[in-house]
Amino acid sequence: MSKPRVLIVEDNVDNFELVRFLLERAGYQVLSAGNGIEGLDAAKREQPDLILMDLSMPELDGWNATARLKADEATRAIPVLALTAHTLPGDRKRAIDAGCDGYISKPINVASFDKLVATLLRQAKAGLQS
Ligand code: MN
Repeated sequence: MSKPRVLIVEDNVDNFELVRFLLERAGYQVLSAGNGIEGLDAAKREQPDLILMDLSMPELDGWNATARLKADEATRAIPVLALTAHTLPGDRKRAIDAGCDGYISKPINVASFDKLVATLLRQAKAGLQS
């Protein structure tokens, strides 16, 4: 079985390196984009199995990038997991409303990160994600 491919859309290098480390350790292939515009391009071109989406980014933020991914038939089925330092309930709701399939709060809890990523990949493979 080939490795699942996960696209990280994140403008902060330290956050990117941490997430990449965790994903590679879990056996996934990592793709990267540094803002929402690059993220949209990479998602269309690479058709990753999962997208980890930072919310606060230059050019195009994660909320709007996710809304565009979910409005496009070419990328709609790819699950999007928001990476958010925005811990207010309203910010989480905004991420879900934009079409995110889940969210992970920063600082990242490693155990729940691994579990949520694996769950979303499994659901996507089974075609069960909404
Ligand atoms: Mn950011």
